[in-house]
Amino acid sequence: MIILVVNTGSSSLKYQLFDMDDHKVLAKGLCERIGQDGHMNYKTEAGTVFDKDVALPDHGVAMQLVIDALTDKEYGVISDMSEIGAVGHRIVQGGYLFDKSEIITDEVEAGIEELCVIGPLHNPPALVGIRACKKVLPGTPGVVVFDTTFHRTMPDECKYYAIPWEYAEKYHVQRYGAHGTSHRYVSERCAELMGRDPAELNIITCHLGNGSSITAVKGGKCYDTSMGLTPLEGLVMGTRCGSIDPTVVSFIYEQTGMPVKEITDMMTKKAGLLAVSEISGDCRDITKAEAEGNYKAHVAREMLLRSVKRFIGAYAAELGHVDAIVFTAGIGENDADLREKVCDNLGFMGVKIDKEKNNCRGQEVEITAEGSEIRTFIIPTNEELMIAMDTQALVEAM
Ligand code: AMP
Repeated sequence: MIILVVNTGSSSLKYQLFDMDDHKVLAKGLCERIGQDGHMNYKTEAGTVFDKDVALPDHGVAMQLVIDALTDKEYGVISDMSEIGAVGHRIVQGGYLFDKSEIITDEVEAGIEELCVIGPLHNPPALVGIRACKKVLPGTPGVVVFDTTFHRTMPDECKYYAIPWEYAEKYHVQRYGAHGTSHRYVSERCAELMGRDPAELNIITCHLGNGSSITAVKGGKCYDTSMGLTPLEGLVMGTRCGSIDPTVVSFIYEQTGMPVKEITDMMTKKAGLLAVSEISGDCRDITKAEAEGNYKAHVAREMLLRSVKRFIGAYAAELGHVDAIVFTAGIGENDADLREKVCDNLGFMGVKIDKEKNNCRGQEVEITAEGSEIRTFIIPTNEELMIAMDTQALVEAM
Protein backbone atom coordinates (compact mmCIF):
# COMPACT_ATOMS: atom_id res chain seq x y z
CA MET A 1 0.00 0.00 0.00
CA ILE A 2 1.15 3.55 -0.77
CA ILE A 3 0.43 6.00 2.04
CA LEU A 4 0.71 9.77 2.10
CA VAL A 5 1.50 11.26 5.51
CA VAL A 6 0.55 14.90 6.00
CA ASN A 7 1.48 17.26 8.81
CA THR A 8 -0.31 20.60 8.46
CA GLY A 9 0.67 23.77 10.31
CA SER A 10 -0.98 27.17 10.12
CA SER A 11 1.14 28.18 7.10
CA SER A 12 2.86 24.92 6.20
CA LEU A 13 2.20 21.41 4.95
CA LYS A 14 4.83 18.69 5.36
CA TYR A 15 4.36 15.49 3.37
CA GLN A 16 5.94 12.05 2.95
CA LEU A 17 4.89 9.29 0.59
CA PHE A 18 5.59 5.76 1.88
CA ASP A 19 5.64 2.43 0.10
CA MET A 20 4.51 0.24 2.98
CA ASP A 21 5.90 -2.96 1.41
CA ASP A 22 9.38 -1.96 2.54
CA HIS A 23 8.62 1.27 4.49
CA LYS A 24 10.57 3.19 1.85
CA VAL A 25 10.02 6.94 1.54
CA LEU A 26 9.28 7.49 -2.16
CA ALA A 27 9.09 11.28 -1.92
CA LYS A 28 8.82 14.01 0.69
CA GLY A 29 8.85 17.73 1.08
CA LEU A 30 7.40 20.87 2.52
CA CYS A 31 5.03 23.60 1.39
CA GLU A 32 5.58 26.69 3.50
CA ARG A 33 4.46 30.30 3.74
CA ILE A 34 0.99 29.19 2.63
CA GLY A 35 -1.28 32.22 2.39
CA GLN A 36 1.83 34.43 2.13
CA ASP A 37 4.47 34.39 -0.62
CA GLY A 38 4.57 30.55 -0.93
CA HIS A 39 7.53 28.17 -1.18
CA MET A 40 7.66 24.46 -1.93
CA ASN A 41 10.26 21.76 -2.05
CA TYR A 42 10.05 18.23 -3.35
CA LYS A 43 12.58 15.45 -2.81
CA THR A 44 12.80 11.90 -4.08
CA GLU A 45 15.41 9.19 -3.55
CA ALA A 46 17.50 10.97 -6.18
CA GLY A 47 17.67 14.10 -4.01
CA THR A 48 16.01 17.51 -4.19
CA VAL A 49 14.00 17.79 -7.40
CA PHE A 50 12.87 21.36 -6.82
CA ASP A 51 12.96 23.99 -4.13
CA LYS A 52 11.23 27.11 -5.34
CA ASP A 53 8.82 29.97 -4.71
CA VAL A 54 5.31 29.11 -5.88
CA ALA A 55 1.92 30.73 -5.34
CA LEU A 56 0.29 28.95 -2.37
CA PRO A 57 -2.84 30.99 -1.60
CA ASP A 58 -4.29 28.25 0.61
CA HIS A 59 -3.76 24.67 1.85
CA GLY A 60 -6.02 23.30 -0.94
CA VAL A 61 -3.65 24.64 -3.61
CA ALA A 62 -0.64 23.33 -1.68
CA MET A 63 -2.23 19.85 -1.48
CA GLN A 64 -2.98 19.89 -5.23
CA LEU A 65 0.64 20.85 -6.01
CA VAL A 66 1.89 17.98 -3.83
CA ILE A 67 -0.28 15.53 -5.79
CA ASP A 68 0.86 17.13 -9.09
CA ALA A 69 4.52 16.65 -8.09
CA LEU A 70 3.99 13.04 -6.93
CA THR A 71 2.28 12.13 -10.24
CA ASP A 72 4.41 14.28 -12.58
CA LYS A 73 5.41 12.44 -15.79
CA GLU A 74 9.04 13.49 -15.47
CA TYR A 75 9.88 13.38 -11.77
CA GLY A 76 6.78 11.86 -10.12
CA VAL A 77 7.02 8.61 -8.14
CA ILE A 78 3.52 7.27 -8.88
CA SER A 79 1.61 7.36 -12.13
CA ASP A 80 -1.80 8.28 -10.78
CA MET A 81 -3.21 9.59 -7.52
CA SER A 82 -5.46 6.53 -7.30
CA GLU A 83 -2.30 4.62 -6.28
CA ILE A 84 -2.42 6.43 -2.92
CA GLY A 85 -4.25 3.93 -0.69
CA ALA A 86 -4.76 6.25 2.27
CA VAL A 87 -3.71 9.53 3.86
CA GLY A 88 -2.48 9.71 7.44
CA HIS A 89 -2.70 13.06 9.24
CA ARG A 90 -0.74 14.11 12.29
CA ILE A 91 -2.98 15.77 14.89
CA VAL A 92 -1.36 17.38 17.90
CA GLN A 93 -4.28 17.46 20.35
CA GLY A 94 -6.55 14.43 20.76
CA GLY A 95 -7.45 15.68 24.24
CA TYR A 96 -10.00 13.77 26.29
CA LEU A 97 -11.82 12.42 23.21
CA PHE A 98 -9.35 10.17 21.40
CA ASP A 99 -7.60 7.14 22.89
CA LYS A 100 -6.34 5.81 19.57
CA SER A 101 -5.84 6.67 15.92
CA GLU A 102 -9.09 6.85 13.95
CA ILE A 103 -10.45 6.64 10.41
CA ILE A 104 -11.71 10.13 9.55
CA THR A 105 -15.49 10.44 9.72
CA ASP A 106 -17.72 13.49 10.22
CA GLU A 107 -17.87 12.59 13.92
CA VAL A 108 -14.07 12.42 14.21
CA GLU A 109 -13.74 15.79 12.44
CA ALA A 110 -16.29 17.28 14.84
CA GLY A 111 -14.25 15.90 17.76
CA ILE A 112 -11.03 17.51 16.46
CA GLU A 113 -12.97 20.76 16.08
CA GLU A 114 -14.27 20.54 19.67
CA LEU A 115 -10.66 20.14 20.86
CA CYS A 116 -9.53 23.40 19.23
CA VAL A 117 -10.10 25.07 22.62
CA ILE A 118 -7.26 23.03 24.15
CA GLY A 119 -5.18 22.87 20.93
CA PRO A 120 -5.73 26.37 19.52
CA LEU A 121 -2.46 26.58 17.59
CA HIS A 122 -2.43 23.12 16.04
CA ASN A 123 -5.90 21.63 15.63
CA PRO A 124 -7.42 24.34 13.39
CA PRO A 125 -4.68 24.04 10.69
CA ALA A 126 -4.87 20.22 10.94
CA LEU A 127 -8.59 20.43 10.12
CA VAL A 128 -7.77 22.65 7.16
CA GLY A 129 -5.31 19.96 6.00
CA ILE A 130 -7.92 17.19 6.37
CA ARG A 131 -10.46 19.18 4.35
CA ALA A 132 -7.92 20.10 1.65
CA CYS A 133 -7.02 16.40 1.31
CA LYS A 134 -10.65 15.37 1.04
CA LYS A 135 -11.13 17.84 -1.79
CA VAL A 136 -8.03 16.82 -3.74
CA LEU A 137 -8.27 13.06 -3.03
CA PRO A 138 -12.01 12.38 -2.79
CA GLY A 139 -12.77 8.79 -1.87
CA THR A 140 -9.28 8.09 -0.45
CA PRO A 141 -9.61 7.02 3.19
CA GLY A 142 -8.01 9.29 5.77
CA VAL A 143 -6.70 8.45 9.22
CA VAL A 144 -5.83 10.76 12.10
CA VAL A 145 -2.97 9.94 14.46
CA PHE A 146 -2.87 12.04 17.62
CA ASP A 147 0.28 13.13 19.47
CA THR A 148 -1.57 12.71 22.76
CA THR A 149 -3.06 9.21 22.54
CA PHE A 150 0.11 7.46 23.74
CA HIS A 151 -0.18 9.42 26.99
CA ARG A 152 -3.82 8.45 27.64
CA THR A 153 -2.67 5.49 29.73
CA MET A 154 -1.24 7.73 32.46
CA PRO A 155 -2.71 6.87 35.86
CA ASP A 156 -4.83 9.59 37.49
CA GLU A 157 -2.05 10.69 39.84
CA CYS A 158 0.03 11.61 36.76
CA LYS A 159 -2.83 12.74 34.54
CA TYR A 160 -4.41 15.31 36.86
CA TYR A 161 -3.12 18.42 38.58
CA ALA A 162 -3.53 18.81 42.33
CA ILE A 163 -6.21 21.49 41.95
CA PRO A 164 -9.95 21.15 42.69
CA TRP A 165 -11.60 18.44 40.55
CA GLU A 166 -14.10 20.87 39.05
CA TYR A 167 -11.43 22.31 36.72
CA ALA A 168 -10.81 18.87 35.24
CA GLU A 169 -14.49 17.96 35.21
CA LYS A 170 -15.89 21.20 33.76
CA TYR A 171 -12.97 22.51 31.69
CA HIS A 172 -10.88 19.41 30.96
CA VAL A 173 -7.82 20.86 32.68
CA GLN A 174 -5.48 17.88 32.86
CA ARG A 175 -2.12 16.71 31.55
CA TYR A 176 -2.28 15.55 27.93
CA GLY A 177 1.44 15.44 27.09
CA ALA A 178 2.87 15.75 23.58
CA HIS A 179 5.32 14.06 21.17
CA GLY A 180 3.42 10.83 21.93
CA THR A 181 3.94 9.38 18.46
CA SER A 182 7.70 9.89 18.85
CA HIS A 183 7.83 8.39 22.37
CA ARG A 184 5.78 5.42 21.14
CA TYR A 185 7.97 4.88 18.09
CA VAL A 186 11.31 5.01 19.94
CA SER A 187 10.10 2.92 22.89
CA GLU A 188 8.77 0.21 20.56
CA ARG A 189 11.94 0.34 18.46
CA CYS A 190 14.06 0.14 21.63
CA ALA A 191 12.23 -3.03 22.73
CA GLU A 192 12.77 -4.44 19.23
CA LEU A 193 16.51 -3.65 19.36
CA MET A 194 16.67 -5.30 22.80
CA GLY A 195 14.85 -8.35 21.43
CA ARG A 196 12.30 -8.03 24.24
CA ASP A 197 8.55 -7.67 24.59
CA PRO A 198 7.71 -3.99 25.39
CA ALA A 199 5.31 -5.30 28.05
CA GLU A 200 8.32 -6.51 30.08
CA LEU A 201 10.30 -3.28 29.95
CA ASN A 202 10.54 0.08 31.70
CA ILE A 203 12.03 2.65 29.32
CA ILE A 204 12.70 6.38 29.74
CA THR A 205 12.45 8.12 26.37
CA CYS A 206 14.02 11.57 25.97
CA HIS A 207 12.67 13.53 22.98
CA LEU A 208 14.99 16.55 23.02
CA GLY A 209 14.52 19.03 20.18
CA ASN A 210 13.18 22.54 19.81
CA GLY A 211 10.33 21.27 21.95
CA SER A 212 11.41 18.63 24.46
CA SER A 213 9.67 16.04 26.58
CA ILE A 214 10.65 12.98 28.56
CA THR A 215 8.35 10.01 29.10
CA ALA A 216 8.37 7.12 31.54
CA VAL A 217 7.18 4.10 29.53
CA LYS A 218 6.13 1.22 31.77
CA GLY A 219 5.36 -2.11 30.09
CA GLY A 220 4.94 -0.44 26.70
CA LYS A 221 2.53 2.21 28.00
CA CYS A 222 3.02 5.80 29.02
CA TYR A 223 3.14 6.06 32.81
CA ASP A 224 4.16 9.73 33.09
CA THR A 225 5.35 12.47 30.77
CA SER A 226 6.85 15.90 31.25
CA MET A 227 4.49 18.01 29.11
CA GLY A 228 1.08 18.86 30.51
CA LEU A 229 -2.09 20.67 29.51
CA THR A 230 0.08 22.37 26.88
CA PRO A 231 3.60 21.75 25.56
CA LEU A 232 4.92 24.46 27.89
CA GLU A 233 5.29 22.25 30.96
CA GLY A 234 8.39 20.24 31.73
CA LEU A 235 11.92 20.75 30.43
CA VAL A 236 13.64 24.02 29.55
CA MET A 237 13.28 24.28 25.75
CA GLY A 238 14.50 26.43 22.84
CA THR A 239 12.05 29.27 23.47
CA ARG A 240 9.81 27.78 26.21
CA CYS A 241 10.47 28.14 29.91
CA GLY A 242 9.23 24.69 30.95
CA SER A 243 7.89 24.16 34.48
CA ILE A 244 8.00 27.24 36.68
CA ASP A 245 6.19 28.37 39.82
CA PRO A 246 2.70 29.16 38.45
CA THR A 247 2.50 32.33 40.52
CA VAL A 248 5.24 33.83 38.33
CA VAL A 249 2.36 34.63 35.93
CA SER A 250 0.23 36.52 38.45
CA PHE A 251 3.32 38.18 39.92
CA ILE A 252 4.47 39.50 36.52
CA TYR A 253 0.91 40.60 35.84
CA GLU A 254 0.69 42.48 39.15
CA GLN A 255 4.10 44.10 38.69
CA THR A 256 3.84 45.05 35.01
CA GLY A 257 0.16 44.96 34.04
CA MET A 258 1.13 42.76 31.08
CA PRO A 259 -1.96 40.83 29.92
CA VAL A 260 -1.95 37.10 30.75
CA LYS A 261 -2.02 36.18 27.05
CA GLU A 262 1.16 38.19 26.47
CA ILE A 263 2.84 36.58 29.47
CA THR A 264 1.96 33.13 28.09
CA ASP A 265 3.30 34.22 24.72
CA MET A 266 6.54 35.40 26.32
CA MET A 267 6.93 32.08 28.19
CA THR A 268 6.30 30.15 24.96
CA LYS A 269 8.24 32.14 22.38
CA LYS A 270 10.71 34.37 24.18
CA ALA A 271 11.83 32.26 27.13
CA GLY A 272 13.90 29.08 27.54
CA LEU A 273 17.42 28.83 26.10
CA LEU A 274 16.83 31.93 23.97
CA ALA A 275 16.00 34.12 26.96
CA VAL A 276 18.74 32.82 29.24
CA SER A 277 21.54 32.88 26.65
CA GLU A 278 20.30 36.08 24.99
CA ILE A 279 21.80 34.52 21.86
CA SER A 280 19.59 31.84 20.39
CA GLY A 281 17.12 29.07 21.12
CA ASP A 282 19.22 26.70 19.02
CA CYS A 283 21.39 24.41 21.10
CA ARG A 284 24.19 24.49 18.53
CA ASP A 285 24.60 28.29 18.84
CA ILE A 286 24.58 28.01 22.62
CA THR A 287 27.19 25.24 22.72
CA LYS A 288 29.42 27.31 20.42
CA ALA A 289 28.98 30.46 22.54
CA GLU A 290 29.62 28.48 25.73
CA ALA A 291 32.86 27.13 24.25
CA GLU A 292 33.87 30.74 23.52
CA GLY A 293 33.41 31.59 27.18
CA ASN A 294 29.94 33.19 27.12
CA TYR A 295 28.57 32.92 30.69
CA LYS A 296 24.86 33.24 29.86
CA ALA A 297 25.20 30.54 27.20
CA HIS A 298 26.86 28.37 29.86
CA VAL A 299 23.96 28.95 32.28
CA ALA A 300 21.40 28.18 29.53
CA ARG A 301 23.10 24.90 28.72
CA GLU A 302 23.42 23.97 32.39
CA MET A 303 19.68 24.63 32.81
CA LEU A 304 18.94 22.28 29.93
CA LEU A 305 21.23 19.59 31.39
CA ARG A 306 19.65 20.06 34.82
CA SER A 307 16.14 19.61 33.51
CA VAL A 308 17.02 16.48 31.53
CA LYS A 309 18.78 14.94 34.56
CA ARG A 310 15.89 15.86 36.87
CA PHE A 311 13.22 14.22 34.73
CA ILE A 312 15.24 11.06 34.13
CA GLY A 313 15.94 10.85 37.87
CA ALA A 314 12.32 11.51 38.78
CA TYR A 315 11.02 8.90 36.34
CA ALA A 316 13.57 6.33 37.51
CA ALA A 317 12.22 6.89 41.03
CA GLU A 318 8.60 6.66 39.86
CA LEU A 319 9.22 3.49 37.84
CA GLY A 320 11.35 1.85 40.53
CA HIS A 321 13.36 0.02 37.89
CA VAL A 322 14.70 1.13 34.51
CA ASP A 323 15.76 -1.18 31.66
CA ALA A 324 16.71 1.41 29.06
CA ILE A 325 17.10 5.11 28.32
CA VAL A 326 16.57 6.42 24.78
CA PHE A 327 17.70 9.75 23.30
CA THR A 328 15.91 11.10 20.23
CA ALA A 329 15.06 14.28 18.21
CA GLY A 330 17.43 17.09 17.14
CA ILE A 331 19.39 17.48 20.38
CA GLY A 332 18.95 13.89 21.61
CA GLU A 333 20.22 12.43 18.33
CA ASN A 334 23.03 14.88 17.66
CA ASP A 335 24.43 16.33 20.86
CA ALA A 336 27.01 13.81 22.10
CA ASP A 337 28.27 16.19 24.80
CA LEU A 338 24.79 16.54 26.32
CA ARG A 339 24.24 12.76 26.32
CA GLU A 340 27.63 12.20 27.95
CA LYS A 341 27.11 14.83 30.66
CA VAL A 342 23.59 13.58 31.46
CA CYS A 343 24.62 9.92 31.57
CA ASP A 344 27.74 10.63 33.66
CA ASN A 345 25.41 11.90 36.38
CA LEU A 346 23.32 8.73 36.21
CA GLY A 347 26.23 6.51 37.21
CA PHE A 348 24.65 6.06 40.66
CA MET A 349 21.71 4.33 38.91
CA GLY A 350 24.04 1.98 37.10
CA VAL A 351 24.13 3.87 33.77
CA LYS A 352 27.47 3.64 31.99
CA ILE A 353 27.89 4.69 28.38
CA ASP A 354 30.65 3.95 25.89
CA LYS A 355 32.07 7.39 25.06
CA GLU A 356 33.40 6.32 21.67
CA LYS A 357 30.07 4.85 20.56
CA ASN A 358 28.36 7.95 21.90
CA ASN A 359 30.51 10.17 19.70
CA CYS A 360 28.12 10.09 16.75
CA ARG A 361 25.23 11.98 15.19
CA GLY A 362 21.79 10.98 14.02
CA GLN A 363 22.46 7.24 13.94
CA GLU A 364 20.51 4.41 15.48
CA VAL A 365 23.06 3.01 17.90
CA GLU A 366 23.32 1.44 21.33
CA ILE A 367 25.84 3.36 23.42
CA THR A 368 25.78 1.15 26.52
CA ALA A 369 29.21 0.44 28.04
CA GLU A 370 30.20 -2.95 29.33
CA GLY A 371 29.04 -3.48 32.91
CA SER A 372 26.18 -0.98 32.67
CA GLU A 373 22.99 -2.02 34.49
CA ILE A 374 20.79 0.09 32.22
CA ARG A 375 21.04 0.07 28.43
CA THR A 376 21.22 3.40 26.58
CA PHE A 377 20.27 4.00 22.94
CA ILE A 378 20.18 6.77 20.37
CA ILE A 379 17.15 6.15 18.15
CA PRO A 380 16.32 8.71 15.43
CA THR A 381 12.62 9.35 15.74
CA ASN A 382 10.28 8.54 12.86
CA GLU A 383 6.83 9.91 13.63
CA GLU A 384 5.84 9.81 9.95
CA LEU A 385 6.49 6.07 9.69
CA MET A 386 4.46 5.48 12.86
CA ILE A 387 1.58 7.51 11.36
CA ALA A 388 1.86 5.54 8.11
CA MET A 389 1.83 2.23 10.02
CA ASP A 390 -1.28 3.19 12.02
CA THR A 391 -2.95 4.39 8.82
CA GLN A 392 -2.23 1.13 7.02
CA ALA A 393 -3.47 -0.98 9.95
CA LEU A 394 -6.76 0.93 10.23
CA VAL A 395 -7.45 1.09 6.50
CA GLU A 396 -6.71 -2.62 6.02
CA ALA A 397 -9.13 -3.43 8.84
CA MET A 398 -11.92 -1.31 7.28
P1 AMP B 1 14.02 19.17 16.36
O1 AMP B 1 12.98 20.04 16.98
O2 AMP B 1 13.92 17.74 16.75
O3 AMP B 1 14.14 19.38 14.87
O4 AMP B 1 15.41 19.67 16.97
C1 AMP B 1 15.94 20.92 16.64
C2 AMP B 1 17.07 21.26 17.56
O5 AMP B 1 18.07 20.23 17.55
C3 AMP B 1 17.82 22.49 17.10
O6 AMP B 1 17.24 23.65 17.58
C4 AMP B 1 19.18 22.29 17.69
O7 AMP B 1 19.21 22.93 18.95
C5 AMP B 1 19.31 20.81 17.92
N1 AMP B 1 20.40 20.24 17.14
C6 AMP B 1 20.39 19.84 15.86
N2 AMP B 1 21.63 19.40 15.50
C7 AMP B 1 22.40 19.53 16.59
C8 AMP B 1 23.78 19.24 16.88
N3 AMP B 1 24.58 18.75 15.95
N4 AMP B 1 24.21 19.49 18.13
C9 AMP B 1 23.40 20.00 19.06
N5 AMP B 1 22.12 20.28 18.84
C10 AMP B 1 21.62 20.05 17.63
